[in-house]
Amino acid sequence: MPADVSPDQALERLLEGNQRWVEERQAHPNRSTERRREVAAGQRPFAAVFSCLDSRVPPEIVFDCGTGDLAVVRTGGHVLDEEVVMGSLRFCADLLGTPLMLVMGHESCGAVGAAIEVIEGRQSAPAGLGSIVDAIRPAYDVADHAAENHDLTDRVVRAHTLLTVRKIAEADSFAALMRSGELRIVGAHYSLESGEVSLLD
Ligand SMILES: [Zn+2]
Repeated sequence: MPADVSPDQALERLLEGNQRWVEERQAHPNRSTERRREVAAGQRPFAAVFSCLDSRVPPEIVFDCGTGDLAVVRTGGHVLDEEVVMGSLRFCADLLGTPLMLVMGHESCGAVGAAIEVIEGRQSAPAGLGSIVDAIRPAYDVADHAAENHDLTDRVVRAHTLLTVRKIAEADSFAALMRSGELRIVGAHYSLESGEVSLLD
């Protein structure tokens, strides 16, 4: 099923919606009864967002979107797993034809902060959360510990987001779609304070 918009147009639409949120001039699109009925017949979300479960980072709100616009996958610390999360993202790309995948970390991520406490030996991993710590450890290892930005959590979140983008992009099922220009995968960072989403290189 071909998408209604190109990956670049989808990204532009997300960033425009975020700008409205930042400037408090939301359009609240696609939230009418008419829209609800329209998408009941079928959905073609223009973007998939993979982000943290943090209550302060709801994608539909921070991108000023409505129903039928975004396919959203959220886990603690936006930790990817090979089965459920990757399978869900595959569903978006293959079956919904979603042209854009945005992986979004955020400022003051509690999951990443807790993982750092465990990695640095100040805490033991809470029961059942060992897999989240393990998933964040590679980002801790590659984060620039001597950087001018003294907020270690922030640097690990950014590194974790970029590693996650790379991992998704390297998966076989997305490679062909990316090569043909039908799919773009980008990393982003959300500021709790300003509400702004910035893209990561
Ligand atoms: Zn978080």
